Amino acid sequence: MRLDKNVTRIAVPSKGRLQESSETLLKAAGIKYRKRDRALFAHVEGLHATILFVRPDDIPLLVAEGAADLGMVGQDLVHENKCDGRVNVRLELGYGHCRLAVAVLANGGPKTVRALKGKRIAASLGHSAREFFRRKKVDVTLLEVSGSVEIMVALGLADAIVDLVESGDTLRDNGLEVIETVAPSQAVLIETPKPRDAKLNELLVRRLEGVLTAQQYTLLEYNIPRAKLVDSEKIAPGFDSPTISDLEDPKWVAVKVMIPKKKSVEIMDKLESIGASAILETPILNCRL
Ligand code: AMP
Repeated sequence: MRLDKNVTRIAVPSKGRLQESSETLLKAAGIKYRKRDRALFAHVEGLHATILFVRPDDIPLLVAEGAADLGMVGQDLVHENKCDGRVNVRLELGYGHCRLAVAVLANGGPKTVRALKGKRIAASLGHSAREFFRRKKVDVTLLEVSGSVEIMVALGLADAIVDLVESGDTLRDNGLEVIETVAPSQAVLIETPKPRDAKLNELLVRRLEGVLTAQQYTLLEYNIPRAKLVDSEKIAPGFDSPTISDLEDPKWVAVKVMIPKKKSVEIMDKLESIGASAILETPILNCRL
C-alpha cells in the first residue's frame, strides 16, 4: 500500500484516550476504512481520502504543516505544540473533556498559585505550564516529565503539578487537589489552512458535524389542538422550525420537531400540560441541517 501525496489525509490518534472515540465518530459519519495490523494508514472506502494513524502529540504539527488535511486531537495538544494560530478548529468533537490544572497536596500544600513562587512544579505539558506561570508572574522551576505526573509530589521531586484532570479521581488517589484551572480542553477537529482538496474537506467536516448534531438532539412528535400550536412552538421552537401536518380532526395538528436531548423530559412535561398527546421521542442517528 502506498501513501498517495494527492489524497486527502485525516490524522487520528494511533493510541491513547482519544483513539477509540475518534474512530467511532469516523465510522458513524460513514468514513469507513479497513485497518490492518500495524499499518500507519488506511484508505477510506469510496472517498479520495486516507486515515493516518499517528501519535497524538504529532497531530497538531502534521496539520499545521499540511502533511495532514484534518486531524482529531485534544485542544491541549494544539496549544502545547504552539499550533493555535496555525490550524483552524472546525469542530468541537464532544469527547475527551478535561482541564489542565495546577494541583498540590490536599493536606498542607500551598493553596494559591502565588504561594508557589520559587517552588518546583512537575508538568507533562511544559509549554502550557511555563506560559501559565509567566502570565501569572510567578517564578517557578519547571520539571518536564512525560508521565505519572501525579506521583512527583509524593516522591519529593515537586511541590505542585500541572496536569490534565478529568474526574479528579487520580489526583485524589495521590493525595492531591486542584487549586487552579489553567485551561479546559476537549477533542477537536483541526484543519490545515491550505487543504489538498477544500471541497472534500468540507464534505468530511459536514459528515462529522451531522453526527455530532444528531448526538445532541432528539426528534419529538406529538399531536396538539390547533389553538395551542403557538404555545407549543414557544416550548419547542425546533432547530429551524417545526413540521406541522393536518390530522383528520381539523381542530388538531401533528408536530415534528428537533429538541435538545438534555431538555427532552422537561419539554414533554410542558407540552403535555398544555394539552399535547401521543408525544413520542425518537433518537436521531445522523442529520444535515
Ligand atoms: P493520551 O495521552 O494519548 O491518552 O491522550 C490524552 C488526551 O486525552 C489529552 O491530550 C487530552 O486531550 C485528553 N484527556 C482527557 N482526559 C484526560 C485525562 N484525565 N488525562 C489526560 N488526558 C486526558
